[in-house]
Amino acid sequence: MKKIVLLGSTGSIGRSTLAVVDRFPKRLDVFALAAGRNSSALAEQVKRYKPQYAALADGEPCRELLDACSSVDCVLLRGEEGLSEIATLKEGGAVVAAMVGAAGLRPTLDAISAGKRVALANKEVLVMAGELMMNTALESGAEIMPVDSEHNAIFQCLEGNRRDSLRRVLLCATGGPLLHRSLGELESITVEEALNHPRWEMGRKVTIDSTMMNKGLEM
Ligand code: NDP
Repeated sequence: MKKIVLLGSTGSIGRSTLAVVDRFPKRLDVFALAAGRNSSALAEQVKRYKPQYAALADGEPCRELLDACSSVDCVLLRGEEGLSEIATLKEGGAVVAAMVGAAGLRPTLDAISAGKRVALANKEVLVMAGELMMNTALESGAEIMPVDSEHNAIFQCLEGNRRDSLRRVLLCATGGPLLHRSLGELESITVEEALNHPRWEMGRKVTIDSTMMNKGLEM
């Protein structure tokens, strides 16, 4: 049974991770859950998955969360320190880093320092502090597994193959709202134009990412 520590459990990747746990209940166990400020969603998850630890990074825990934790005997931790504690628990297994942006930096680094296997969705932390993360992993023996789809696809293609059989890696993209604009034109793009995705209606951050910003982060 693998004991999963899930940081960012209330987000989109966090929920998808729990959907995978639902599919493999005999192989995966939720050992710890951590969220940002959505304490009622965390309460629901605690009731359902009965983790041994839960952490709320921001704000006050709601009554539901306090009740849920006491009913399943789950230790509730708070703040940034709580997240770091959860990321480094000795009994915890793989740490899924699914928090968004800079919030993931400290707990991910702590998990890596503790020599954990880290399933990394939050690639922003490598953009911010890649050298530090990778050097720390070399020292501690931590394993960083890419979860973001492009990186994971590349990782799977490379696994078990010889480095010298690789010529180049191509990252694909579908274009987004600024496809076919010249580099010169990009200087004067407005926020409205960048948010006007031709095909999908998504949140603002994801839409801006799909102007190729995300490819930059992936590179
Ligand atoms: P969401 O915004 O859906 O979820 C973010 C998660 O981070 C939530 O659980 C949120 O908690 C938590 N969080 C936010 N602020 C803090 C904080 N200060 N401290 C602790 N936790 C915090 O993001 P996604 O799930 O979409 O993305 C997560 C990561 O995965 C990002 O790095 C993204 O780039 C990457 N990724 C996402 C993909 C996707 O398809 N969504 C694909 C590939 C990579 P709460 O809601 O409780 O505040």
